[in-house]
Amino acid sequence: MRTIIEPFRIKSVEPIRMTTAAEREGHLREAGYNVFLLHSDDVLIDLLTDSGTAAMSAEQWAAVMRADEAYAGARSWFRFEAAVRDITGLPIVMPTHQGRAAERILFGAVCKPGDVVPNNTHFDTTRANVEAAGARAVDLVIPEGRDPQSRHPFKGNMNVDALRALLEREGAGRVPLVMLTLTNNSAGGQPVSMANVREVASVCRAHGIPLYLDACRFAENAWFIREREEGFADWTPLAIARELFRHADGATMSAKKDGMANIGGFLATRDERLAQRERDVLILTEGFPTYGGLAGRDLDAIATGLYEALDADYLRYRIRATGYLGEKLLAAGVPIVEPPGGHAIYLDAARFLPHIAPRELPGQSLVAELYRVAGVRGVEVGTVMFGGRDPATGLERPSPMELVRLAIPRRVYTQSHIDYVAEAVIEVFERRHALRGMRFTFEAPTLRHFTARFEPLP
Ligand SMILES: *Cc1c(COP(=O)(O)O)cnc(C)c1O
Repeated sequence: MRTIIEPFRIKSVEPIRMTTAAEREGHLREAGYNVFLLHSDDVLIDLLTDSGTAAMSAEQWAAVMRADEAYAGARSWFRFEAAVRDITGLPIVMPTHQGRAAERILFGAVCKPGDVVPNNTHFDTTRANVEAAGARAVDLVIPEGRDPQSRHPFKGNMNVDALRALLEREGAGRVPLVMLTLTNNSAGGQPVSMANVREVASVCRAHGIPLYLDACRFAENAWFIREREEGFADWTPLAIARELFRHADGATMSAKKDGMANIGGFLATRDERLAQRERDVLILTEGFPTYGGLAGRDLDAIATGLYEALDADYLRYRIRATGYLGEKLLAAGVPIVEPPGGHAIYLDAARFLPHIAPRELPGQSLVAELYRVAGVRGVEVGTVMFGGRDPATGLERPSPMELVRLAIPRRVYTQSHIDYVAEAVIEVFERRHALRGMRFTFEAPTLRHFTARFEPLP
Protein backbone atom coordinates (compact mmCIF):
# COMPACT_ATOMS: atom_id res chain seq x y z
CA MET A 1 0.00 0.00 0.00
CA ARG A 2 1.20 3.53 -0.79
CA THR A 3 1.87 6.17 1.83
CA ILE A 4 -1.32 7.96 2.87
CA ILE A 5 -0.44 11.59 2.16
CA GLU A 6 -1.72 14.78 3.76
CA PRO A 7 -4.73 15.53 1.53
CA PHE A 8 -3.91 19.26 1.32
CA ARG A 9 -1.25 21.68 0.13
CA ILE A 10 0.08 24.35 2.46
CA LYS A 11 -0.81 27.91 1.52
CA SER A 12 0.12 29.81 4.66
CA VAL A 13 2.80 28.81 7.14
CA GLU A 14 3.57 29.62 10.74
CA PRO A 15 7.29 29.42 11.58
CA ILE A 16 8.52 27.17 14.37
CA ARG A 17 11.27 28.85 16.40
CA MET A 18 14.09 26.38 16.92
CA THR A 19 15.52 26.16 20.43
CA THR A 20 18.29 24.15 22.09
CA ALA A 21 17.94 21.69 24.93
CA ALA A 22 19.89 24.09 27.16
CA GLU A 23 17.44 26.93 26.43
CA ARG A 24 14.49 24.65 27.06
CA GLU A 25 15.96 23.55 30.36
CA GLY A 26 15.92 27.21 31.43
CA HIS A 27 12.32 27.68 30.25
CA LEU A 28 11.30 24.56 32.17
CA ARG A 29 12.87 25.80 35.38
CA GLU A 30 11.16 29.19 35.01
CA ALA A 31 7.83 27.42 34.39
CA GLY A 32 8.24 25.26 37.52
CA TYR A 33 8.36 22.20 35.23
CA ASN A 34 4.70 22.81 34.34
CA VAL A 35 4.30 22.90 30.56
CA PHE A 36 1.02 24.84 30.89
CA LEU A 37 3.20 27.76 32.04
CA LEU A 38 5.48 27.79 28.97
CA HIS A 39 5.24 30.38 26.21
CA SER A 40 4.07 28.59 23.07
CA ASP A 41 6.88 30.37 21.17
CA ASP A 42 9.27 28.15 23.11
CA VAL A 43 7.51 24.95 21.97
CA LEU A 44 8.55 23.15 18.77
CA ILE A 45 5.73 20.62 18.37
CA ASP A 46 2.70 21.44 20.47
CA LEU A 47 0.66 18.35 21.34
CA LEU A 48 -0.92 19.83 24.47
CA THR A 49 -4.42 19.54 22.96
CA ASP A 50 -6.36 19.03 19.74
CA SER A 51 -8.94 21.55 20.97
CA GLY A 52 -9.16 24.80 19.01
CA THR A 53 -5.75 24.17 17.45
CA ALA A 54 -6.87 23.08 13.94
CA ALA A 55 -5.59 24.77 10.79
CA MET A 56 -8.55 26.25 8.94
CA SER A 57 -8.94 25.65 5.21
CA ALA A 58 -8.97 28.21 2.41
CA GLU A 59 -12.75 27.66 2.22
CA GLN A 60 -13.12 28.41 5.92
CA TRP A 61 -11.10 31.60 5.61
CA ALA A 62 -13.26 32.58 2.63
CA ALA A 63 -16.33 31.86 4.78
CA VAL A 64 -14.87 34.13 7.47
CA MET A 65 -14.83 36.97 4.93
CA ARG A 66 -18.34 36.18 3.65
CA ALA A 67 -19.70 36.20 7.19
CA ASP A 68 -22.52 38.46 8.27
CA GLU A 69 -22.09 40.14 11.65
CA ALA A 70 -25.73 41.24 12.01
CA TYR A 71 -26.94 40.94 15.60
CA ALA A 72 -30.08 39.00 14.69
CA GLY A 73 -30.94 36.72 11.79
CA ALA A 74 -27.48 36.89 10.17
CA ARG A 75 -26.78 34.89 6.99
CA SER A 76 -23.97 33.18 8.95
CA TRP A 77 -26.47 31.91 11.50
CA PHE A 78 -28.72 30.38 8.85
CA ARG A 79 -25.74 28.62 7.25
CA PHE A 80 -24.66 27.32 10.66
CA GLU A 81 -28.14 26.14 11.57
CA ALA A 82 -28.59 24.45 8.18
CA ALA A 83 -25.27 22.59 8.49
CA VAL A 84 -26.00 21.33 12.01
CA ARG A 85 -29.55 20.28 11.06
CA ASP A 86 -28.36 18.57 7.89
CA ILE A 87 -25.67 16.53 9.66
CA THR A 88 -27.45 15.78 12.94
CA GLY A 89 -31.12 15.84 11.94
CA LEU A 90 -31.70 17.69 15.23
CA PRO A 91 -34.15 20.50 14.47
CA ILE A 92 -33.39 22.95 17.30
CA VAL A 93 -29.87 24.41 17.39
CA MET A 94 -28.35 26.81 19.92
CA PRO A 95 -24.87 28.20 19.23
CA THR A 96 -22.52 28.49 22.23
CA HIS A 97 -18.99 29.84 22.68
CA GLN A 98 -17.67 26.33 23.31
CA GLY A 99 -18.77 22.87 24.37
CA ARG A 100 -18.87 23.47 28.11
CA ALA A 101 -21.38 26.32 27.69
CA ALA A 102 -23.73 23.88 25.95
CA GLU A 103 -23.17 21.44 28.84
CA ARG A 104 -23.92 24.06 31.47
CA ILE A 105 -27.15 25.10 29.78
CA LEU A 106 -28.28 21.50 29.24
CA PHE A 107 -27.50 20.11 32.71
CA GLY A 108 -28.77 23.30 34.37
CA ALA A 109 -32.08 22.78 32.59
CA VAL A 110 -32.58 19.02 33.12
CA CYS A 111 -30.78 18.03 36.36
CA LYS A 112 -32.03 18.41 39.90
CA PRO A 113 -30.11 17.56 43.08
CA GLY A 114 -29.94 13.80 43.60
CA ASP A 115 -30.19 12.96 39.89
CA VAL A 116 -27.76 10.60 38.19
CA VAL A 117 -26.26 11.07 34.73
CA PRO A 118 -24.67 7.99 33.12
CA ASN A 119 -22.08 8.41 30.37
CA ASN A 120 -19.55 6.02 28.85
CA THR A 121 -16.91 8.33 30.36
CA HIS A 122 -17.62 11.93 31.33
CA PHE A 123 -15.14 14.42 29.97
CA ASP A 124 -13.87 16.61 32.84
CA THR A 125 -15.98 19.70 31.97
CA THR A 126 -19.01 17.45 31.46
CA ARG A 127 -18.57 15.86 34.88
CA ALA A 128 -18.04 19.30 36.46
CA ASN A 129 -21.22 20.67 34.87
CA VAL A 130 -23.29 17.63 35.95
CA GLU A 131 -21.97 18.04 39.49
CA ALA A 132 -22.51 21.82 39.44
CA ALA A 133 -26.19 21.06 38.73
CA GLY A 134 -26.29 18.91 41.89
CA ALA A 135 -26.36 15.56 40.05
CA ARG A 136 -24.00 12.59 40.15
CA ALA A 137 -21.90 11.71 37.09
CA VAL A 138 -21.46 7.94 36.62
CA ASP A 139 -19.03 6.39 34.11
CA LEU A 140 -20.21 3.10 32.61
CA VAL A 141 -17.59 2.29 29.97
CA ILE A 142 -17.07 -1.43 29.19
CA PRO A 143 -14.29 -3.07 31.27
CA GLU A 144 -11.99 -3.24 28.20
CA GLY A 145 -12.16 0.58 28.11
CA ARG A 146 -10.29 0.71 31.42
CA ASP A 147 -7.56 -1.72 30.34
CA PRO A 148 -4.73 0.12 28.51
CA GLN A 149 -3.68 -3.07 26.72
CA SER A 150 -7.06 -4.41 25.57
CA ARG A 151 -7.32 -4.15 21.75
CA HIS A 152 -11.14 -4.18 21.67
CA PRO A 153 -12.16 -2.30 18.47
CA PHE A 154 -14.76 -0.16 20.29
CA LYS A 155 -13.27 0.50 23.70
CA GLY A 156 -15.51 3.55 24.08
CA ASN A 157 -18.70 1.45 24.27
CA MET A 158 -21.05 1.78 27.20
CA ASN A 159 -21.64 -1.29 29.37
CA VAL A 160 -25.34 -1.75 28.60
CA ASP A 161 -25.91 -4.27 31.42
CA ALA A 162 -24.46 -1.76 33.86
CA LEU A 163 -26.80 0.89 32.43
CA ARG A 164 -29.81 -1.40 32.89
CA ALA A 165 -28.72 -2.18 36.46
CA LEU A 166 -28.29 1.51 37.23
CA LEU A 167 -31.78 2.31 35.91
CA GLU A 168 -33.18 -0.56 37.97
CA ARG A 169 -31.39 0.63 41.10
CA GLU A 170 -31.95 4.38 40.83
CA GLY A 171 -35.32 4.37 39.05
CA ALA A 172 -35.72 6.03 35.68
CA GLY A 173 -37.14 9.15 37.35
CA ARG A 174 -33.70 9.89 38.79
CA VAL A 175 -31.99 9.81 35.40
CA PRO A 176 -32.79 12.94 33.36
CA LEU A 177 -30.70 11.77 30.39
CA VAL A 178 -28.09 9.27 29.29
CA MET A 179 -25.02 10.52 27.45
CA LEU A 180 -22.56 8.87 25.06
CA THR A 181 -19.22 10.56 24.36
CA LEU A 182 -18.07 10.04 20.76
CA THR A 183 -15.16 9.32 20.66
CA ASN A 184 -14.52 8.62 24.33
CA ASN A 185 -11.97 11.38 25.02
CA SER A 186 -11.08 10.64 28.64
CA ALA A 187 -10.54 6.93 27.92
CA GLY A 188 -8.06 7.45 25.08
CA GLY A 189 -10.16 8.77 22.18
CA GLN A 190 -11.65 5.31 21.68
CA PRO A 191 -14.72 4.90 19.45
CA VAL A 192 -18.27 3.77 20.24
CA SER A 193 -19.86 1.29 17.81
CA MET A 194 -23.15 1.88 15.99
CA ALA A 195 -24.46 -1.31 17.59
CA ASN A 196 -23.74 0.14 21.04
CA VAL A 197 -25.43 3.45 20.20
CA ARG A 198 -28.50 1.54 18.97
CA GLU A 199 -28.61 -0.67 22.06
CA VAL A 200 -28.20 2.24 24.49
CA ALA A 201 -30.88 4.16 22.57
CA SER A 202 -33.31 1.24 22.84
CA VAL A 203 -32.75 0.96 26.62
CA CYS A 204 -33.31 4.72 26.90
CA ARG A 205 -36.51 4.55 24.84
CA ALA A 206 -37.86 1.66 26.94
CA HIS A 207 -37.43 3.86 30.05
CA GLY A 208 -38.56 7.12 28.42
CA ILE A 209 -35.15 8.73 28.98
CA PRO A 210 -33.55 10.99 26.35
CA LEU A 211 -30.19 10.00 24.86
CA TYR A 212 -27.67 12.79 24.24
CA LEU A 213 -24.44 12.57 22.31
CA ASP A 214 -21.34 14.45 23.45
CA ALA A 215 -20.49 14.77 19.78
CA CYS A 216 -17.11 16.59 19.88
CA ARG A 217 -15.39 13.92 17.72
CA PHE A 218 -18.41 12.53 15.88
CA ALA A 219 -16.60 12.50 12.51
CA GLU A 220 -13.59 10.57 13.85
CA ASN A 221 -16.01 8.13 15.48
CA ALA A 222 -17.88 7.73 12.17
CA TRP A 223 -14.61 6.82 10.46
CA PHE A 224 -13.81 4.11 13.02
CA ILE A 225 -17.29 2.64 12.45
CA ARG A 226 -16.67 2.57 8.71
CA GLU A 227 -13.29 0.87 9.20
CA ARG A 228 -14.16 -1.56 11.96
CA GLU A 229 -17.88 -2.34 12.08
CA GLU A 230 -19.57 -4.93 9.91
CA GLY A 231 -21.82 -3.42 7.26
CA PHE A 232 -20.48 0.15 7.10
CA ALA A 233 -17.48 -0.18 4.75
CA ASP A 234 -19.28 1.48 1.83
CA TRP A 235 -21.12 4.15 3.82
CA THR A 236 -19.95 7.77 3.63
CA PRO A 237 -18.86 9.34 6.94
CA LEU A 238 -21.79 11.77 6.56
CA ALA A 239 -24.29 8.90 6.25
CA ILE A 240 -22.78 7.22 9.32
CA ALA A 241 -22.91 10.50 11.27
CA ARG A 242 -26.58 10.95 10.36
CA GLU A 243 -27.32 7.40 11.47
CA LEU A 244 -25.55 8.05 14.81
CA PHE A 245 -27.55 11.21 15.48
CA ARG A 246 -30.82 9.57 14.36
CA HIS A 247 -30.75 7.62 17.64
CA ALA A 248 -30.17 10.74 19.73
CA ASP A 249 -32.63 13.16 21.27
CA GLY A 250 -30.00 15.86 21.54
CA ALA A 251 -26.30 16.68 21.42
CA THR A 252 -23.65 18.93 22.88
CA MET A 253 -20.71 19.82 20.68
CA SER A 254 -17.38 21.58 20.92
CA ALA A 255 -16.61 22.95 17.46
CA LYS A 256 -12.98 23.20 18.60
CA LYS A 257 -12.68 19.49 17.78
CA ASP A 258 -14.52 18.14 14.71
CA GLY A 259 -15.90 21.58 13.90
CA MET A 260 -12.39 22.31 12.59
CA ALA A 261 -12.66 25.76 14.16
CA ASN A 262 -10.65 27.63 16.78
CA ILE A 263 -13.68 28.40 18.96
CA GLY A 264 -17.37 27.52 19.16
CA GLY A 265 -19.93 24.88 19.99
CA PHE A 266 -23.64 24.15 20.09
CA LEU A 267 -26.49 22.51 21.93
CA ALA A 268 -29.11 20.74 19.81
CA THR A 269 -32.35 18.99 20.67
CA ARG A 270 -35.70 17.74 19.37
CA ASP A 271 -37.57 18.96 22.48
CA GLU A 272 -39.20 22.35 21.86
CA ARG A 273 -40.43 22.79 25.46
CA LEU A 274 -36.99 22.12 26.90
CA ALA A 275 -35.42 24.37 24.27
CA GLN A 276 -37.57 27.26 25.39
CA ARG A 277 -36.09 27.08 28.89
CA GLU A 278 -32.59 26.58 27.50
CA ARG A 279 -32.93 29.59 25.22
CA ASP A 280 -33.67 31.81 28.24
CA VAL A 281 -30.34 30.79 29.78
CA LEU A 282 -28.61 31.08 26.40
CA ILE A 283 -29.71 34.72 26.15
CA LEU A 284 -28.70 35.38 29.75
CA THR A 285 -25.18 33.92 29.53
CA GLU A 286 -24.19 33.52 25.86
CA GLY A 287 -26.13 35.86 23.58
CA PHE A 288 -29.12 36.26 21.30
CA PRO A 289 -30.22 32.82 19.96
CA THR A 290 -28.99 33.46 16.41
CA TYR A 291 -25.37 34.02 17.47
CA GLY A 292 -25.06 32.53 20.97
CA GLY A 293 -21.49 33.09 22.11
CA LEU A 294 -20.07 33.51 18.61
CA ALA A 295 -19.26 36.08 15.96
CA GLY A 296 -20.79 35.60 12.51
CA ARG A 297 -17.36 34.64 11.18
CA ASP A 298 -17.08 31.82 13.73
CA LEU A 299 -20.53 30.50 12.77
CA ASP A 300 -19.52 30.46 9.10
CA ALA A 301 -16.12 28.83 9.77
CA ILE A 302 -17.88 26.06 11.73
CA ALA A 303 -20.63 25.58 9.12
CA THR A 304 -17.87 24.88 6.59
CA GLY A 305 -15.63 22.94 8.98
CA LEU A 306 -18.29 20.42 10.03
CA TYR A 307 -18.44 19.12 6.45
CA GLU A 308 -14.65 19.17 6.00
CA ALA A 309 -14.32 17.00 9.13
CA LEU A 310 -16.51 14.41 7.35
CA ASP A 311 -14.41 14.28 4.17
CA ALA A 312 -13.27 10.67 3.68
CA ASP A 313 -9.76 11.61 2.46
CA TYR A 314 -9.29 13.90 5.43
CA LEU A 315 -10.48 11.28 7.92
CA ARG A 316 -8.33 8.54 6.36
CA TYR A 317 -5.27 10.80 6.79
CA ARG A 318 -6.33 12.01 10.23
CA ILE A 319 -6.84 8.58 11.79
CA ARG A 320 -3.79 7.21 9.99
CA ALA A 321 -1.52 9.98 11.34
CA THR A 322 -2.47 9.05 14.90
CA GLY A 323 -2.18 5.32 14.22
CA TYR A 324 1.19 5.85 12.50
CA LEU A 325 2.65 7.51 15.59
CA GLY A 326 1.24 4.75 17.77
CA GLU A 327 2.70 1.97 15.62
CA LYS A 328 6.15 3.57 15.53
CA LEU A 329 6.19 3.77 19.31
CA LEU A 330 4.90 0.22 19.76
CA ALA A 331 7.55 -1.10 17.35
CA ALA A 332 10.21 0.44 19.61
CA GLY A 333 8.64 -1.16 22.69
CA VAL A 334 7.20 2.09 24.09
CA PRO A 335 4.12 1.33 26.24
CA ILE A 336 1.01 3.17 25.02
CA VAL A 337 -2.75 2.82 25.39
CA GLU A 338 -3.79 0.38 22.70
CA PRO A 339 -5.13 0.47 20.09
CA PRO A 340 -4.33 4.10 19.14
CA GLY A 341 -7.41 6.34 19.45
CA GLY A 342 -8.57 9.04 17.06
CA HIS A 343 -7.07 12.29 18.26
CA ALA A 344 -4.19 11.35 20.54
CA ILE A 345 -1.60 8.82 21.59
CA TYR A 346 -1.43 8.14 25.32
CA LEU A 347 1.95 7.06 26.68
CA ASP A 348 1.58 4.72 29.65
CA ALA A 349 3.93 6.45 32.09
CA ALA A 350 3.43 3.76 34.75
CA ARG A 351 4.97 1.11 32.48
CA PHE A 352 7.38 3.61 30.85
CA LEU A 353 8.88 4.61 34.22
CA PRO A 354 8.19 1.69 36.58
CA HIS A 355 10.98 2.87 38.90
CA ILE A 356 9.05 6.09 39.69
CA ALA A 357 6.16 5.58 42.13
CA PRO A 358 2.81 7.25 41.32
CA ARG A 359 3.36 9.67 44.27
CA GLU A 360 6.53 10.82 42.54
CA LEU A 361 4.54 11.84 39.45
CA PRO A 362 6.03 9.74 36.63
CA GLY A 363 3.81 11.37 33.99
CA GLN A 364 4.97 14.85 34.93
CA SER A 365 8.58 13.72 34.80
CA LEU A 366 8.03 12.28 31.31
CA VAL A 367 6.26 15.42 30.06
CA ALA A 368 9.12 17.60 31.31
CA GLU A 369 11.78 15.37 29.75
CA LEU A 370 10.03 15.25 26.36
CA TYR A 371 9.98 19.02 26.32
CA ARG A 372 13.59 19.35 27.48
CA VAL A 373 14.94 16.83 24.96
CA ALA A 374 12.92 17.79 21.88
CA GLY A 375 10.62 20.77 22.53
CA VAL A 376 7.57 18.49 22.28
CA ARG A 377 4.74 19.55 24.60
CA GLY A 378 2.38 16.81 25.82
CA VAL A 379 0.26 16.78 28.95
CA GLU A 380 0.15 14.64 32.07
CA VAL A 381 -3.14 12.77 32.55
CA GLY A 382 -2.44 11.01 35.81
CA THR A 383 -1.89 11.85 39.43
CA VAL A 384 -1.19 15.55 38.81
CA MET A 385 -4.49 15.96 36.92
CA PHE A 386 -6.73 13.41 38.65
CA GLY A 387 -5.02 12.59 41.95
CA GLY A 388 -5.40 14.72 45.06
CA ARG A 389 -4.61 15.06 48.72
CA ASP A 390 -6.23 12.88 51.33
CA PRO A 391 -7.94 15.52 53.52
CA ALA A 392 -7.00 13.65 56.73
CA THR A 393 -3.36 12.76 56.09
CA GLY A 394 -2.39 15.29 53.39
CA LEU A 395 -0.86 12.39 51.47
CA GLU A 396 -1.16 12.14 47.71
CA ARG A 397 -3.93 9.83 46.44
CA PRO A 398 -2.68 8.57 43.09
CA SER A 399 -4.84 8.32 39.97
CA PRO A 400 -5.66 4.78 38.70
CA MET A 401 -3.66 5.45 35.52
CA GLU A 402 -0.48 7.44 34.83
CA LEU A 403 -0.74 8.63 31.23
CA VAL A 404 0.88 11.29 29.07
CA ARG A 405 -1.32 12.50 26.23
CA LEU A 406 0.13 13.54 22.90
CA ALA A 407 -2.89 15.14 21.18
CA ILE A 408 -2.63 15.79 17.47
CA PRO A 409 -3.97 19.11 16.17
CA ARG A 410 -6.01 18.79 12.95
CA ARG A 411 -4.20 19.48 9.64
CA VAL A 412 -1.32 21.23 11.44
CA TYR A 413 1.63 18.83 11.40
CA THR A 414 3.12 16.77 8.57
CA GLN A 415 4.56 13.28 8.59
CA SER A 416 8.08 14.56 9.30
CA HIS A 417 6.79 16.35 12.40
CA ILE A 418 5.20 13.09 13.55
CA ASP A 419 8.45 11.20 12.80
CA TYR A 420 10.30 13.75 14.92
CA VAL A 421 7.87 13.21 17.81
CA ALA A 422 8.34 9.42 17.60
CA GLU A 423 12.15 9.84 17.60
CA ALA A 424 11.95 12.08 20.66
CA VAL A 425 9.77 9.67 22.63
CA ILE A 426 11.99 6.72 21.69
CA GLU A 427 15.11 8.66 22.70
CA VAL A 428 13.61 9.37 26.11
CA PHE A 429 12.48 5.74 26.37
CA GLU A 430 16.01 4.45 25.73
CA ARG A 431 17.40 6.43 28.66
CA ARG A 432 14.30 6.19 30.85
CA HIS A 433 16.23 4.74 33.80
CA ALA A 434 17.98 8.10 34.24
CA LEU A 435 14.69 9.94 34.82
CA ARG A 436 13.71 10.87 38.36
CA GLY A 437 10.38 11.72 39.94
CA MET A 438 8.99 15.16 40.76
CA ARG A 439 7.35 16.83 43.70
CA PHE A 440 4.96 19.75 43.99
CA THR A 441 6.40 23.05 45.22
CA PHE A 442 3.02 24.77 44.73
CA GLU A 443 -0.48 23.46 44.18
CA ALA A 444 -3.85 25.24 44.07
CA PRO A 445 -6.79 23.59 45.88
CA THR A 446 -8.73 22.91 42.64
CA LEU A 447 -7.67 22.13 39.04
CA ARG A 448 -4.11 22.14 40.32
CA HIS A 449 -2.54 20.87 37.09
CA PHE A 450 -2.97 24.25 35.37
CA THR A 451 -0.96 26.31 37.84
CA ALA A 452 1.11 23.83 39.86
CA ARG A 453 4.89 24.15 40.16
CA PHE A 454 7.28 21.24 40.58
CA GLU A 455 10.90 20.37 41.16
CA PRO A 456 12.80 17.21 40.27
CA LEU A 457 13.50 14.88 43.17
CA PRO A 458 17.18 14.53 44.10
C1 LIG B 1 -13.46 19.42 24.64
C2 LIG B 1 -14.56 18.57 25.11
C3 LIG B 1 -15.66 19.11 25.79
C4 LIG B 1 -15.75 20.57 26.19
O1 LIG B 1 -15.65 21.43 25.11
P1 LIG B 1 -14.95 22.87 25.25
O2 LIG B 1 -15.13 23.46 23.88
O3 LIG B 1 -13.53 22.65 25.61
O4 LIG B 1 -15.68 23.63 26.28
C5 LIG B 1 -16.67 18.25 26.17
N1 LIG B 1 -16.62 16.94 25.90
C6 LIG B 1 -15.57 16.39 25.26
C7 LIG B 1 -15.56 14.91 24.99
C8 LIG B 1 -14.50 17.17 24.85
O5 LIG B 1 -13.47 16.61 24.22
